[in-house]
Amino acid sequence: MPSNHPEHRTADRLDGIRGTIFSEMSALAVRTGALNLGQGFPDRDGPESVVDAAVQAMRSGRNQYAPGVGVPELRRAVAGHQARHYGLDLDPDRQVVITTGATEGIAAALLALVNPGDEVLVMEPYYDSYTAMIQMAGGVRRPVTLRAPDFRLDLDELRAAVSDRTRVLLLNSPHNPTGTVLDRGELDAVAAVAREHDLVVVTDEVYEHLVFDGNEHVPFATLPGMFDRTVSISSSGKTFSFTGWKVGWVTGPTSLVRAVMAAKQWLTFTSGAPLQPAIAHALEEESAYYEALAKELEVKRDYLCDGLRELDMDVYVPQSTYFVTSDVARYGFKDGLEFCLALPEMAGVVAIPSQFFYDDSDEGRHKVRWAFCKDHEVLEEGVRRLRAADLHA
Ligand code: PMP
Ligand code: GLN
Repeated sequence: MPSNHPEHRTADRLDGIRGTIFSEMSALAVRTGALNLGQGFPDRDGPESVVDAAVQAMRSGRNQYAPGVGVPELRRAVAGHQARHYGLDLDPDRQVVITTGATEGIAAALLALVNPGDEVLVMEPYYDSYTAMIQMAGGVRRPVTLRAPDFRLDLDELRAAVSDRTRVLLLNSPHNPTGTVLDRGELDAVAAVAREHDLVVVTDEVYEHLVFDGNEHVPFATLPGMFDRTVSISSSGKTFSFTGWKVGWVTGPTSLVRAVMAAKQWLTFTSGAPLQPAIAHALEEESAYYEALAKELEVKRDYLCDGLRELDMDVYVPQSTYFVTSDVARYGFKDGLEFCLALPEMAGVVAIPSQFFYDDSDEGRHKVRWAFCKDHEVLEEGVRRLRAADLHA
């Protein structure tokens, strides 16, 4: 059939964007019955009281369109959370927008702020939706690589990546997949670059509460002079273990939030009405949940890192998130994808090849990401299977 037949036609803006590796690897886990240490979702749901609040919202008739910007009590709860944790003073009516997960916040921010040909600085390895949405907005990504074993931000590389076409700096800290938490020194240097080149900073902070070892998450918007140029994105998915609810938010100065809203209203218009009051309740009443979750995840991180370390791979212990990265070069596979495609048969386990999060193919080739946001028995069984298997090509 000719390739321009309507059945095969797609717009140029999708050229070269492959399907998300998370869906591919979760489908592989379902197909093979392997343990899924790939996609980042917890085995256990968040607090019962939050589910009850959602049921109550549904039963009390909150089932029609919410306002496009989000229900007032959730916008107030987001502002309250930013004030309590970070000392930020947000106007819930003009500086907070509720989105369909952080994913929609990222999409709306990039569509709102990137013109065709604009360059966007992005930390590599990057979360896959960033590159897809930069391309859909017509932008050009300029990756700045976090290199193993420490995955710190190389400030010289960051400065060298800026050009006179750079418009947006897309930050992610705590960082998926490396677990890097940018420290104050790094953030100050990023702020200096943003100031010097007059950049808008879009910062994805969905793992803000899942930080280990006493490390501190510093929201970029709290740095001196940065609030007015920063679009901050977060989500209830990771903080409250409701990844399937897709309730996120964007905060920032009135003008940037208005710009994000201008795009967001044409994406989904509005997001899950009865889930919003439930997440408002979560933000106001359930801070103990995410404090405990971070501690539990720290123990699980240690368990999985120890288990992986006993195998023939380099393991990079993360400071945060759900994920640990390892290097599997010694097993003799061409790349991480080949390793991960063989892994269900070799060991009955699924992991994520991180190479799709890199432009620098040498750096990404053999990196594999493992999720530890799973029940302890699942991690135990995963480690047992990996130990028992021959993982060589
Ligand atoms: N950003 C990062 C860095 C993520 O890991 C994820 C996955 N939670 C998202 C954004 C998407 O968040 P959400 O599920 O709220 O759309
Ligand atoms: N954020 C999750 C991860 O990094 C998955 C999100 C998704 O599947 N798009 O694994």
